[in-house]
Amino acid sequence: MLDDSQLPLTDDGVWCQILRRPRPSARPAPALFLDRDGVVIEEGHFVHDPAQVRLLPGSAETIRAANTRGHGVVIVTNQSGIGRGYFGWPEFAATQTRVIEDLAGRGAYIDAVLACPFHEGGCAPYDIANHPYRKPNPGMLRLAAERLRIDLAGSWIVGDHATDIGAGRAAGLAGAVHVATGHGSEPDQRPRALAYATEDFRVLVAASLAEAAPLIPFLNS
Ligand SMILES: [Mg+2]
Repeated sequence: MLDDSQLPLTDDGVWCQILRRPRPSARPAPALFLDRDGVVIEEGHFVHDPAQVRLLPGSAETIRAANTRGHGVVIVTNQSGIGRGYFGWPEFAATQTRVIEDLAGRGAYIDAVLACPFHEGGCAPYDIANHPYRKPNPGMLRLAAERLRIDLAGSWIVGDHATDIGAGRAAGLAGAVHVATGHGSEPDQRPRALAYATEDFRVLVAASLAEAAPLIPFLNS
């Protein structure tokens, strides 16, 4: 198993794994930001083992639609299970490898994966409340935008937690789709997600990532 020094961690302690880089000449383009657990894969209790990975139906097809149109796809995932000491980065890495392999097996590719371990209830050094990289804060989206030259103002995010939608608004995205998979069907999540909508930030709803695709403008132009 890998030790932390071999893993793609930033000086801030955030996982930032770039899997595919844009061509050097490429102009900034909108990307599709995705929460992982409950959106791309089935929600589990702190998923941290490759054997727990189950792609949600249709998620690969939506990612493939972004791939074929030349738009980046970026996973942004809060991983407080690491901060709380339930598991470590090596387990996250192994789990994430399975997600990427299962998607690749269906012709769907992820450009970058960002994960934030910080949580107010965590163990040192992860015991930081309201960390700038933890959704609903925009740190992971902004870092991805810098590394991959993403046009944030044209980008969208899909999430099952209202905090995913909040991160999209805080990063200045065009919009978000709140899905009913994962925690999305909990009674307070959808109203809280919809409350993030403004004149400049659209919040739409769908049953799943598969059904979010027709709502996202750059996947349909
Ligand atoms: Mg989630």
